[in-house]
Amino acid sequence: MTTDPTSEGSRSMTDAPADAHRVLVLNSGSSSVKYQLLDMRDRSRLATGLVERIGESSSRLVHTPLKGGEPRERSGRIADHGEALKAAADELAADGLGLDSPELAAIGHRVVHGGLKFSEPTVITDDVLKEIERLVPVAPLHNPANITGIRTAQALRPDLPQVAVFDTAFHTTMPEHAARYAIDVETADAHRIRRYGFHGTSHAYVSRRTAELLGRPVADLNVIVLHLGNGASASAVAGGRCVDTSMGLTPLEGLVMGTRSGDIDPAVTFHLKRVAGMSTDEIDVLLNKRSGLVGLCGENDMREIRRRVDEGDERAALAFDIYIHRLKKYVGAYSAVLGRVDAVVFTAGVGENSAPVRKAALAGMEGFGLAVDADRNAVRSGEPRLISPEGARVAVAVVPTDEELEIAGQTFDLIHN
Ligand code: ADP
Repeated sequence: MTTDPTSEGSRSMTDAPADAHRVLVLNSGSSSVKYQLLDMRDRSRLATGLVERIGESSSRLVHTPLKGGEPRERSGRIADHGEALKAAADELAADGLGLDSPELAAIGHRVVHGGLKFSEPTVITDDVLKEIERLVPVAPLHNPANITGIRTAQALRPDLPQVAVFDTAFHTTMPEHAARYAIDVETADAHRIRRYGFHGTSHAYVSRRTAELLGRPVADLNVIVLHLGNGASASAVAGGRCVDTSMGLTPLEGLVMGTRSGDIDPAVTFHLKRVAGMSTDEIDVLLNKRSGLVGLCGENDMREIRRRVDEGDERAALAFDIYIHRLKKYVGAYSAVLGRVDAVVFTAGVGENSAPVRKAALAGMEGFGLAVDADRNAVRSGEPRLISPEGARVAVAVVPTDEELEIAGQTFDLIHN
């Protein structure tokens, strides 16, 4: 938190035991909690887990101990986030990794929306929690679940530093001309309407890892990061600072995604209201849940779409082409924004795994110095790797993202510095 002098949010906490080296990362959604316990001495994972369908009779917990032991599954109603975290804590305790351990240094929370105030990971105080609550109107689907997760974890370990790591933080460096929409300034400011961007933890991690892969200082590099998961976003990163990103006020703007439309003429919404008689909520669901690849061809898994394309399915082929066309436009736009591009980097589920997407996205861009080597692109690996031809002017890379490790690292660094 850099701009609010009344906040204690960025102060360092020194009350974690000096030898405590574990960090629990919590990613709380509206009906799910994902968790990972990491050992920060070697940045290894000790356990991961997921509680889903919280509040339903079909709740399910899957816990995976990563240093020996088989995954364990529990089903049956888990009423709320409190119960979910307790169930996760029980599983961790059964592996000798209980949350009451003095080895636990902190809990790091993924928080989706930090608005303009939070440009850094922040120790959660009452003031910080109030500010995250104040941002609920701009993140109605995400921030309430994040707040519930934080409160639940605080109740479980009130003595422990809890740190918020914001999806928006990395993008707070965007200049005003990239962050502002060209709408009436008073209206925009009154309602905090501007482009915030998301997936920031991933864009930060991947742009830094790319510099490591290239063996060059991050400060010298201009990178375009393409985070292509079910949600998808692109960012232009100059010298380690984000200068533009494709998501906006909400994660709906930008690339074609699994179920979201990405960029669209805003007049489509008036048209749907006036002509199709749809309500605001119905349009919200249409654009966020029934659009993108699902809307275009009934499927959002890129593996299945490619299989259908290979079988000659025309709807799948059109969906793929629309997805690729949008991606290509962003690569071109961000090349112009950056002026000089050193690397284009693919990450997340589709970016890391789909060679056809990587090939198609950069096809015909030789004029930009962009090319993909077919053999390198075909390699399957969990490691960061180059897929551009030897000696290419612009590096093209695949760099697996790791948002949990980044959250754990930022959390641990904050409480120890
Ligand atoms: P999320 O946004 O949910 O975190 P991920 O980054 O895990 O998403 O990406 C999930 C998506 O990755 C899936 O919907 C699927 O389209 C894609 N994906 C996963 N594995 C592969 C694969 N081997 N080939 C192509 N696409 C894949």
